[in-house]
Amino acid sequence: MSNSTDNIGARFDAVIVGGGAAGLSGAVALGRSLRSVLVVDKGEQRNLPADAAHNVIGREGISPGELVAEGRREAVSYGVEFADDEVISVERDGDFTVTLGSGRIVTARRLLLATGLVDELPRIPGVQEAWGHGVLHCPYCHGYEVRGRRVGVIATTSMGSVHQSLLFAQLSEHVTLFAGAVEFDEQQLAELRVSGVGIVEGEVERVIEHDRDVTGVQVDGRVHDVDNVVVGTRMVARTELFEQLGGVPQDHPFGQFIPSDPTGATGVDGVWTAGNAGNLAAMVSVAAGAGLLAGIAINADLVAADVRAALV
Ligand SMILES: Cc1cc2nc3c(=O)[nH]c(=O)nc-3n(C[C@H](O)[C@H](O)[C@H](O)COP(=O)(O)OP(=O)(O)OC[C@H]3O[C@@H](n4cnc5c(N)ncnc54)[C@H](O)[C@@H]3O)c2cc1C
Repeated sequence: MSNSTDNIGARFDAVIVGGGAAGLSGAVALGRSLRSVLVVDKGEQRNLPADAAHNVIGREGISPGELVAEGRREAVSYGVEFADDEVISVERDGDFTVTLGSGRIVTARRLLLATGLVDELPRIPGVQEAWGHGVLHCPYCHGYEVRGRRVGVIATTSMGSVHQSLLFAQLSEHVTLFAGAVEFDEQQLAELRVSGVGIVEGEVERVIEHDRDVTGVQVDGRVHDVDNVVVGTRMVARTELFEQLGGVPQDHPFGQFIPSDPTGATGVDGVWTAGNAGNLAAMVSVAAGAGLLAGIAINADLVAADVRAALV
C-alpha cells in the first residue's frame, strides 16, 4: 500500500509501537537523549488481567495499569508524545512511513517494535473467564500468592506441564496435574511422584469459576476441588509489522517471536524489538531492560548516522 504524501504528518526520530514496559523504557531512554519520539499504543498490555505485577523491584505488587500510567507520565516529562491508536502498516522508503488506524500518518527515522505477544489459552470453558486471577501460568508472577493452596495444573504439553507442576510443587504440597490427553514418559512420572504431584486422568471438561475465582476442575463429570488453576499458553508475538517490512518471525516450541541481537536490533535495517515481541520469557523488568537497551542502541545509531552525514 502506498500513501499519499499529502497526508504525511510529523517526522520523528523514533516511533515506538507498543506502550508496555518495553516500549515505555525505550521511550524514556530516547526522550532523555532529546530525541523526538511517538509511542503508539492500543492498550492491550499482556498482564492487564492480573491484580498486581510482582518481581518489579521498587514497585513490588503495583497494579499493571498503574505501572503503565506512571511509565507514560515519566516519558511525557521528557517530551515523548503518545497516540492511543493502532499502527496498521509500516513501509520503508528511506524513512519509515507509519500509518495509524485513525488515518494519521507519520514518518520515523527508526522503529522500535515493542508489540508484546498474545497468550493463546487452552479452549476449556472457565479458563478465559478467570485468566490472570484464578487461572494462572507463571510461578514467578503469582506463585508466592498461591503458596500452600490447592493448585491444579491442566496439561497442554508434557514438557511444559511437568515443568509448571514441579515449580508450583516447590510452593505448595497440594499440586494436582490434570493430564487430559497428554501422555508422560517414565522419567516425567517419576519426577512428578517424588515432588508429591498427584495425577488425575480423564478429559478436563471445564474449570469451575465464579467472579474469576476458581473452585474446581471438572473431569469426566466429577469436580475436583482446587483453589487455582495453572495452564500453559501458546505465546505468539505480534509480528505483523515486522513481516510487512520483510522480517521473518522465528518459531519457538511455545510460540513465535521476532529474532534480534542482544540490543534488540533485528535483521531489518532500522528496526529494533524489545520485550515479549522478541523474548517470550521476558517478565516486566526484563522487558523494561530490553526496551532501555534498544533505546540506547537506537540513539547511538542515530548519532552515528548524523556524524556520517556531516562528514560527507
Ligand atoms: C496474567 C499475567 C500476569 C503477569 N504477571 C506478571 C508479574 O506479576 N510480573 C512480571 O514481571 N510479569 C508478569 N507478566 C508478564 C508481563 O505481562 C510481560 O512481561 C510484559 O507485559 C511485557 O511487556 P511488553 O512491553 O513486552 O508487552 P506488553 O506489556 O504486552 O505491551 C505491548 C503493547 O503493545 C501494544 N501493541 C501491539 N501491537 C500494536 C500496534 N500494532 N499498534 C499499537 N499498539 C500495539 C499492545 O496493545 C500492548 O499495549 C504477566 C503476564 C500475564 C499474562
